[in-house]
Amino acid sequence: TYIVNDNCIACKYTDCVEVCPVDCFYEGENMLVIHPDECIDCGVCEPECPADAIRPDTDADAEKWVEFNRKYSELW
Ligand code: SF4
Repeated sequence: TYIVNDNCIACKYTDCVEVCPVDCFYEGENMLVIHPDECIDCGVCEPECPADAIRPDTDADAEKWVEFNRKYSELW
């Protein structure tokens, strides 16, 4: 799965939302998140992000972000 990190805060440049084939982005007041169970790992959103906020869950600090993205995608 891919996740959105805090580089997204106050960016919300939503090109990532437009390219996602499964509509798994959720929008809160300050940032976007990806539902980790809905993401199909296609990777097309990552290069669209100007803030480098979309990262694969293989990154070293990704685990906390997977949980964060899951929690907020279910709340929003
Ligand atoms: Fe959507 Fe693909 Fe990005 Fe996952 S990797 S959020 S499926 S565009």
